[in-house]
Amino acid sequence: MDDLNSQYEQLKSRYKDIFIEAAQSIRSEIEKFRPEVSCKSCSIDKNCKIENPDIFMEFPDKCPCREWQSKTLSFLGGEYKQKLRGIYKKIMEARELYSCEKCGACCRLAVSEFSPIQLKQKAMRGDNFAKQFLSVFVPYENEEDARAALPEYFDLLENLDLDTRNYYYHCNKVVDNLCSDYENRPEICKEFPANPLKLLPPSCSFCKWRESVNKLAMSLQARIDIIDFYKQKLS
Ligand code: SF4
Ligand code: SF4
Ligand code: SF4
Repeated sequence: MDDLNSQYEQLKSRYKDIFIEAAQSIRSEIEKFRPEVSCKSCSIDKNCKIENPDIFMEFPDKCPCREWQSKTLSFLGGEYKQKLRGIYKKIMEARELYSCEKCGACCRLAVSEFSPIQLKQKAMRGDNFAKQFLSVFVPYENEEDARAALPEYFDLLENLDLDTRNYYYHCNKVVDNLCSDYENRPEICKEFPANPLKLLPPSCSFCKWRESVNKLAMSLQARIDIIDFYKQKLS
């Protein structure tokens, strides 16, 4: 398990590097909207004490840096978002090179950071994933039963040094590793696995897909997080 934790730590540190790289790349993209202003000789607002404008500062009404902020927002929400959609498409196209080998692991042991009550609350608020999840998955009575379903995967999940708790679920429709209601399975089952950043059961044939696109997926996630940050700060 020490090996797994060190792999996990490596992933976290890799994400940190990727995040910094993404933040720098976005910074340089938005620099092209920076207005050519000289704060030293500015007469727009005598009370403005800014000397080196930064995108996240609060600017006076008529300052051209305000336009810099609005152009940045529309760039990140438009052209840049489109670029990210392209990356996502590439990740999902790579997934098509692999197919489910019907090991049944994802039906026998599903993990969520949310408890059954939290999932019900989310479903009641209209969360589609939570609704679908609860339409098939039921919680394990206890951790021993969850572990018995897939010991290797369970231990792997339990031994990761995560900030969140794991809740374990299983589907009653899986029989001999196959879905007994295949035609009516929800979208979340058809699309599994949809996120290459999530850990997969070791027996899952999509693990190779996950490995092949992991760096790209991390870079995409970092960019999405950074855009959200810009939106929060500039809106
Ligand atoms: S930030 Fe804008 S308003 Fe303030 S000094 Fe610079 S150019 Fe003038
Ligand atoms: S509905 Fe079928 S595919 Fe979905 S979790 Fe249950 S057994 Fe698996
Ligand atoms: S864990 Fe992967 S290979 Fe196994 S049934 Fe689920 S999707 Fe298919």
